[in-house]
Amino acid sequence: MTADEHGPEDAAGEAAETGTDATEPAHEASEVDDGSIDALGVLGSEPRLEILLALGDRERAVRTNRYELTFSELYDAVDVASSSQFSYHLSQLVGPFVAETDDGYHLKYAGDKVVRAIRSGLYESTAAFEPVGIPGACVVCGATDLEALLRDERFVVRCRACEATLLSDSFPRSQADDRTPEAVVESFGYRIWSAYLLVRGGVCPECYGRVDYWVDCHDDGAQYTFAAMCAGCDCTIHLPIEVPALFHPTAIEYLWRHGIDLFDSPLWELFELVVSDEWTTTVASTDPLDATFRIAMDGEAVELAMDERFEVSPVDESLEADLADDDLADDVPVDDGVSESA
Ligand SMILES: [Zn+2]
Ligand SMILES: [Zn+2]
Repeated sequence: MTADEHGPEDAAGEAAETGTDATEPAHEASEVDDGSIDALGVLGSEPRLEILLALGDRERAVRTNRYELTFSELYDAVDVASSSQFSYHLSQLVGPFVAETDDGYHLKYAGDKVVRAIRSGLYESTAAFEPVGIPGACVVCGATDLEALLRDERFVVRCRACEATLLSDSFPRSQADDRTPEAVVESFGYRIWSAYLLVRGGVCPECYGRVDYWVDCHDDGAQYTFAAMCAGCDCTIHLPIEVPALFHPTAIEYLWRHGIDLFDSPLWELFELVVSDEWTTTVASTDPLDATFRIAMDGEAVELAMDERFEVSPVDESLEADLADDDLADDVPVDDGVSESA
């Protein structure tokens, strides 16, 4: 990766981003259906939210999912003037948020989501967050002067040297609760990997719907991103094209032997490796995608190839050596794409 110019607000140049993004390939406008209006309209009532929380609190107390409360148990748990009023509010929730059985009432998936959203403060504004300096390197200019900050209710990693935004992600209030700024930053490192693991399996990190992939080119080929968008909720994720290569078992094992624990290393720290002389990304073609990645640390190299489906495989350098030179006596043994180059 090489330095290139783009403004700090250029979202397309961001190396990693999650969330909804209007600049992605054209898709139909979302439509509001009567079911959504009815369901969301039901929630604008204190007694109804109290009913959902009462069901959720009892589940938590007895540690049983879908725990059932009888009509009278639920009525006792909620502050409503009369049983007829209570009955009316409960009937409004039954269907989308609450299931009714012969034994009583329990939360459905949507009801559970509402309870967790209320408990975690989803509808409150994002917590304050002081900028902190963080380790790692800028993929645009290579400077090792990064900071994490809150901007427009999003968690942002930016380069202080060239002001490029390297990463931007949604920042729910709950992520700052009981965490120092340093711990907030650390938690984003794990969030990014968890989102990637889901996307890698074709699963949307927000709604678990199906995601589509494509490769995006930024700054005339200076950077490429692995992009994924949910067909259902439009959640969109951009990650450096190096990420799928980093997650190949060959790379994970190689990095481990060279002092890098991938899962405990946040993306911005790995940027430092990716911009260093130890890493080489070569994108021969984007349509169809044909890329190779070479890591050479401490005199030992590994090479990986990525195809149009973002599938990664080790390049067996012994085969290339066979073609180039029949005399294998000088070649160091190769195992699963890992070779000694010194
Ligand atoms: Zn920079
Ligand atoms: Zn989704």
